[in-house]
This record gives sequence, structure tokens and C-alpha cells, in this order.
Amino acid sequence: MAQAQAAVEKKQMRPPIESGCPDGMQYMHPLMVKNFGNWKYHDRPRPGVLHHVAYSGDEIWTVRVGTQRQLGPYEINLLCDIVDQYGEGYVRFTIRSNLEVMVSKWEKVGPLIQAFNDAGYPVGGTGNSVTMISHTQGWLHCDIPGTDASGVVKSLMDELYEEFVREEMPNRVHITTSCCQINCGGQGDIAINIQHTKPPKINHDLVANVCERPSVVARCPVAAIRPAMVNGKPSLEVDERKCVCCGACYPPCPPMQINDPVHSKLAIWVGGKNSNARSKPMFQKLVAAGLPNNPPRWPEVGAVVKKILQTYKKDARDWERVGDWVERIGWPRFFELTGLPFTKFHIDNWRGARNSLNASTHIRF
Ligand code: SF4
Ligand code: SF4
Repeated sequence: MAQAQAAVEKKQMRPPIESGCPDGMQYMHPLMVKNFGNWKYHDRPRPGVLHHVAYSGDEIWTVRVGTQRQLGPYEINLLCDIVDQYGEGYVRFTIRSNLEVMVSKWEKVGPLIQAFNDAGYPVGGTGNSVTMISHTQGWLHCDIPGTDASGVVKSLMDELYEEFVREEMPNRVHITTSCCQINCGGQGDIAINIQHTKPPKINHDLVANVCERPSVVARCPVAAIRPAMVNGKPSLEVDERKCVCCGACYPPCPPMQINDPVHSKLAIWVGGKNSNARSKPMFQKLVAAGLPNNPPRWPEVGAVVKKILQTYKKDARDWERVGDWVERIGWPRFFELTGLPFTKFHIDNWRGARNSLNASTHIRF
């Protein structure tokens, strides 16, 4: 008994763990905890609403709401007030930054949707819709972006609003954006990614103080960076004939500035998918390059994405993902139907990788 008491006291003294996510069960709707792992089936009574039925006979409805991803205190308070008043106080965020609100009665679904719509938040993103665009951190959290991924998402979702609140696509469409070429997240049916087109400009006065030169040299995928003495100071130089403008040297060495208001462009990639459903996972391929990085609304990017979506909606068969559709009709037909120009920049089959990539056996840190 004394031992058990000591163990309890020891456990209570244990410092809190400050990393990792907390146990999700404590935040779940009680009906979800009760029926955990015992769901019989689910359906979608209307776009934006999921209905789950458990073996016990319990039912739960989930309303999916599109948010602007980067939420401030005003938006969070507004959304929480709606959830408290019309929902049952339980929410969760999806990986695509949608808010999901669970209620135990169908009668609560209509007023809840109305309250969100009145506050300017759309309900949708389920089934064969254009789901909320996912994006990388952008200027808010990361130190190397070439564009504001959340801005591109907001402008595009404003234009794709109807495709979010309806389920009229042949299959679900996942769109992503990525704000540098390191690309920590831009893979999907349609991906909008930054594309640098000029080698970095080096501020030689700062390199010696800011950069660990061997790490920067090792970082380059095509071995284009060499140590150099410039104006009597240790610095770096770039062989611009080799540089592929990837931007990998910029994070460890900010004086190698690669972001540029004119030469950092946006590119669009198509046909990626992670799921195994109906066909194997696929890599995306470049379909539009050199689009201007044009805030605050990025109209050129919006026009290309909409053109691809309209063509896919019209031409794809039921349940074909964008990549499946292109595989069936072929890439030449894709460019023909969408009217996008096909240029030599679209071809990169990596056959030259052995010669052009850094194949050094040196250990990198
Ligand atoms: S895509 Fe690049 S810039 Fe954007 S958050 Fe990821 S690493 Fe940072
Ligand atoms: S890391 Fe990338 S951007 Fe930097 S020099 Fe090498 S190829 Fe060019």
C-alpha cells in the first residue's frame, strides 16, 4: 500500500511533457468516446455534413467549416461562440485547416450551418468537392518563403467557393501550395509552388559572420557552391552554369538571397496523389511555369487553376482523380484541352540525374 502511494506521489511529481500532442480522447465528443472503434457506417446527408452510425445505434453528425487557416483571436472567439451556442462545445481541426463540429441531433445541423454561413464561413469540403487548399507556413512561421502561401490560398478559395460548398467534381480534389522550392508541403492533385529562376545573390560582407561555409557547400544538390575569398574576407561563390536555382543554400546562409520580386515565380504541378484508392500513388508533373508572384490576389495563378479544374470537371469520368484522368487521356491531350502551352521546361525525366546531381559520397551533416 505504501509502495503504491509512493508510486502515485512520484507520478504526480513528474514534470509535464512539453512536446508532442496531447491525448485526443479528452477532447472528443462523448458519443465518439463511447463508440470509439465501433462505427457501423457513415454517409453524407448533404455537402459539408457527415453522419456516422454506431453499432450501439448512436448517431452523430459532423459539420465541416472552411476557415482562413491563420486564425486570429477575433475569429477563434467568433467560431467558439457559434460552437457553444449552436453546437455541443466539441470541435476539431482537420489537416486541411477545416473546423469540424460534432452534434448528436440532426435538428441541430441546420441552425449550426446557418450560423456559420451568417458569420461568413462556408460549410463544405466533403466528398467530391475541392477541399480546403492546404499550404505551408508562409511568412508567419517560416524564415525562407518566397511568397505568402496563405495569401494564395485565400485568394484562390474565394474564387473556388462554389466548388467547396458543392460536391460536383468527378472525385475529391486536393490543392496545395508551397512557399519555397524546398517545398515542405506542396503535393496534390494541383500544387502551386514557388519556382526561383535566378541564382542567389551573395552579400559577401555578411557570409563570414552568418554562414557555416562547409554546411552551405554540402547543401547544394549540384555542387555549384565553392568557398572563396572576396575583398579579403572568406565568402562563397556560385557556379551559375550549374546552379538549378533550388534555394537550398538560402536557409543555412541568408546572405545568399534568392527571393526576388520579379524572378521568383509560381509554378503549377498536376496529378499527384497519396492514396491507394483505385490506382497507385502518383507524382505530380509540371504544367505551368513562370507565373508572376503577384500579391495580393495572384490572378494569373487563379486563372490557370480554374482552367485545369473546369477541364477536369467536364472531361473526367466519375471517380477519376486528376492524375487518373491525365493518365487516361495522355499529357498531350491534357495540354490541348486546357490550352496551356507546352514548353521544353516541362520535360524533366531525371535521366541526366547521375551527371547533374551532387553524387559525392562525402558525409553531410
Ligand atoms: S515551403 Fe519552404 S518556405 Fe514554406 S514553410 Fe515550407 S520550408 Fe518554409
Ligand atoms: S543550393 Fe540551389 S540555389 Fe544554391 S547554388 Fe546550389 S543549386 Fe543554386
